[in-house]
Amino acid sequence: MVSCTSCGTTAESPLGWTTDVTERGLRHLCDRCSRDNIRSIEGRLDQVYW
Ligand SMILES: [Zn+2]
Repeated sequence: MVSCTSCGTTAESPLGWTTDVTERGLRHLCDRCSRDNIRSIEGRLDQVYW
C-alpha cells in the first residue's frame, strides 16, 4: 500500500507512479501528480517505475 505524497490518494501498487528520492526518504507520486510535477523532478529520479 502506497499513498501519494501530493494528493494523498492510495493504491495497492505503485505501478505507474513516480518514486522520488529526497533527503527525507522516498516520496511517491501518483500518475496524475507525476505529470504535474515532472518538470520539477525530472533529471533527479531513479525512474524504476516507468
Ligand atoms: Zn497524487
